[in-house]
Amino acid sequence: MSKAIYPGSFDPVTLGHLDIIERSAKIVDELVIGVLNNSAKSPLFSVEERVIMLREVTKNLSNVSVVAFQGLLVDFAEEIHANVIIRGLRAVTDFEYELQMTQTNKKLNPDVETIFLTTNVQYSYLSSSIVKEIGKYGRPLEHFVPKQIEQQVSEKLRKMQTEYK
Ligand code: ADP
Repeated sequence: MSKAIYPGSFDPVTLGHLDIIERSAKIVDELVIGVLNNSAKSPLFSVEERVIMLREVTKNLSNVSVVAFQGLLVDFAEEIHANVIIRGLRAVTDFEYELQMTQTNKKLNPDVETIFLTTNVQYSYLSSSIVKEIGKYGRPLEHFVPKQIEQQVSEKLRKMQTEYK
């Protein structure tokens, strides 16, 4: 029985994330999306908002659940009895950091394996930061975020932009 965690900030969830979620849900028995609650990163969306958005866009996937976590990923993996970590790789630039994290996690808990899924080419350029940059200037986000959350993300970004003007 494989139980996997897909950890990340998801600030906000993009179509690239959703693609990784849908593909990994097909290869593991149970997938827990772990939303990192890290105040040092000063996210645009609160961890509660990010969890709600992820639940909305994954509600049709019966073996997927969404929870917030803080602290070390391996501790969270142990807590929920997960034996796999899923990460997405977009480009070589992701690789060095991901390799370092994977090797550290392996040292901390040799029983947890990290599996990398390479990005779907159509989303290889896509990141939450890109979404924030585009949405800030009022451009539609339909090609970048799941349609269920598009309006919410656009409104939040536009509001932020007017507040800082
Ligand atoms: P983090 O703060 O951990 O980098 P992100 O929310 O940015 O969190 O990303 C979570 C995971 O999703 C990471 O493994 C990242 O490489 C992957 N990811 C992000 N965007 C994409 C994408 N467009 N295609 C594939 N994987 C992606």
